This record gives sequence, structure tokens and C-alpha cells, in this order.
Amino acid sequence: MVRVVVVGAGVIGLTCAVRLAESGFDTHVLARDLPPETTSAVAAALWYPYRAAPRDAVTRWSARTYAELVKLAAEAPASGVRVVPGVELLAAFGDGAAPEGPWWRDAVGSLVPVRDPAPGRPWGWRLDLPVADMSVYLGWLSARLTAAGGTLTRVWLPELPNAGLVVNCSGLAARSLASDDGVYPVRGQVVRVGQVGVTEWLLDQGEPARPLYVVPRLHDVIVGGTADEGNWSTTAEPTTAAELLSRASVFVPELRSAPILGHRVGLRPARAQVRVEFCPHPGGAAGGVVHCYGHGGAGVTLSWGCADDVLAMVEELSRAS
Ligand SMILES: Cc1cc2nc3c(=O)[nH]c(=O)nc-3n(C[C@H](O)[C@H](O)[C@H](O)COP(=O)(O)OP(=O)(O)OC[C@H]3O[C@@H](n4cnc5c(N)ncnc54)[C@H](O)[C@@H]3O)c2cc1C
Repeated sequence: MVRVVVVGAGVIGLTCAVRLAESGFDTHVLARDLPPETTSAVAAALWYPYRAAPRDAVTRWSARTYAELVKLAAEAPASGVRVVPGVELLAAFGDGAAPEGPWWRDAVGSLVPVRDPAPGRPWGWRLDLPVADMSVYLGWLSARLTAAGGTLTRVWLPELPNAGLVVNCSGLAARSLASDDGVYPVRGQVVRVGQVGVTEWLLDQGEPARPLYVVPRLHDVIVGGTADEGNWSTTAEPTTAAELLSRASVFVPELRSAPILGHRVGLRPARAQVRVEFCPHPGGAAGGVVHCYGHGGAGVTLSWGCADDVLAMVEELSRAS
């Protein structure tokens, strides 16, 4: 069996590891933070290609992930993935004409323009999207990994292993582990409130500088979120939370009576382009590193598509060595 070390236990590392282990590789995940402690655990985890590039690759990875998540929702409800209806609210357009579809249109099924979906929002798109409850999904992925013979171990690595097959899914930490200054944080804050009968997701693009979303899960609702570039603070700000809830309540009035269950902040690992790329080891040792990081605000959305590309690269490397 060919051994592969995956660095990182967020949604990217776990998904790559599941693909590798289920394809016959002896797969070992090493991570400083275990799944519930990662940025991935903070994600609202609505399928949506947000803050990730380049568009052609992102559309392809997103389409692949969409299909996989829809399948999980149908066949493996214990995964915590569900397909949820909802609406994306758009800003006003100059001539009042119906907007063209989004750039990632080819990645999803039916997408229907709707007129006046909410106050001050003349157009929207209605579509069904997968939502992963990360409090369930990351544990489910971990269990799927170990069921396929893989392991998950907490360890802080000062550098990437310099021999053998390595997959680098360290997210924001690729700044140091891959010496990549192009990775930077985009801080996001969310509020978790009680489930008060919210059945649809809502994403408001009416004020692009102030993103707003409401994502219902089975037992709670995630309301977000901010997008502060270059901000490293992981402390939740009470005024931000209050503002998010107040704005969201305009579109989803049920939220006014929702009890607050918690606040979370995560640092999205942003980069000009997602990096899925092979690099030889610096010292020339056998194997090499497949980098897979920089997924910005779309790590869940790109996860299975990227994992398939990583698997293809690792298979090619193992054939060559
Ligand atoms: C508020 C918010 C909302 C979001 N909503 C969505 C959404 O709705 N849909 C969506 O698709 N995406 C969403 N995202 C984005 C998504 O969370 C990220 O793109 C995703 O989590 C990136 O996953 P990752 O596995 O690359 O990184 P991470 O989850 O950060 O995992 C990195 C892993 O690398 C490990 N690591 C780092 N350094 C070391 C080291 N030196 N040694 C060992 N291990 C190391 C870490 O411990 C961790 O296990 C959201 C993000 C935020 C913050």
C-alpha cells in the first residue's frame, strides 16, 4: 500500500483523505487542530462559490461538489448534508431587466429568476442548494476516513514532511508551511440562533460590502457574516452580531424571536487563486507535495472537486515512483 500524509483536518484535508483512503492509499492525516476546532467548523456551509478563483476551475470543482453533496443528502442523511430551497437577493440593476445568470450557473441545476423577492431587492434567484451542518459533517467525514483504514492524529508540524507523498491542506497556515505570502485571512463572524421555523436559506447581495446570509440547519440557524480582509482577530464583536441579526430580521422576521446560542469567528484562507498543484520536495527526495489550499469562502463548495484532482495527482505520482 502506498503511504500518503495529509496535513490538515479541515474540510479540505478530510475530503482529500477520504478520497485517497477509499482509493487504496495508506492515508494518515496530521493536524494541529482537530475537525471541530478548524475554520471549517465555523462555516455556514451553504454550497456557494464565494471568494474563490479562477472562475473556470471553481465552476468545475463546484459542480463536482454539488453533485456529490446532493447525493450524500439523498443517500447518507447521517452526513448532516441536506438540500435546502432558498433565494439569493440581488442589487438593483439599471434598466430593471432580469439579470443574467451568475458566472457559476453551469454548476447547479434549476435556477429561476424571481421578481421583488424582498423589500428593496427587485430581483433574486431561487434555487435548491446543499447545506452541510458542520457540527455533524466533519465528524462524519472523519469516521468515513477511519472506516477506510485512514488515521487522524493531532500534531503540530513546524514544516511539511520533506519525503514521501504529502498533501498540504493547511489552509491559512500555508503562509508559513508553504512559504506562501499570497494566502491571507478574510475574517468572518457568524451568530448561531435557535431553530424558530426557518426552512429556507437566504443570501443578500444587495450590499456587496456587507454580506448577509441566513442558513437553516436542523437544530439551529447560522446568521452571517462579515468579510474583513487582512483581519486576524478571532474575537467575536457583540455589536457586529447585533447588527447581523437586525439586518437579517428584515428578510426573515422569525429571527426576531430566536434565542442566541453562540458566536463564532473564522479566518477564511483567501488567495488570488486556489492552489491545487504538485511541487517536488525541496531536497529532491522521492514523492513530493500536492498543495491544496486557498479556498477562501468556498472550502465546502469546492471540497469534492478539489479532492478528485488531488487524487488524480497522487495516483500519477505513485505510478511514477
Ligand atoms: C464565517 C465563515 C463562513 C463560511 N461559510 C462558508 C460556506 O457557507 N460555504 C463554504 O463553502 N465555505 C464557507 N466558508 C469557508 C470555509 O470555511 C473555508 O474555505 C474552509 O474551512 C477551508 O478549509 P481548509 O480545510 O482549507 O482549512 P481549515 O479548516 O482552516 O483547516 C486547516 C487545517 O490545517 C491544520 N494545520 C495548520 N497548520 C498546521 C501545522 N503547522 N501542523 C499541522 N496542522 C496544521 C489546521 O490545524 C487544520 O486542521 C466560511 C468561512 C467562514 C469563516
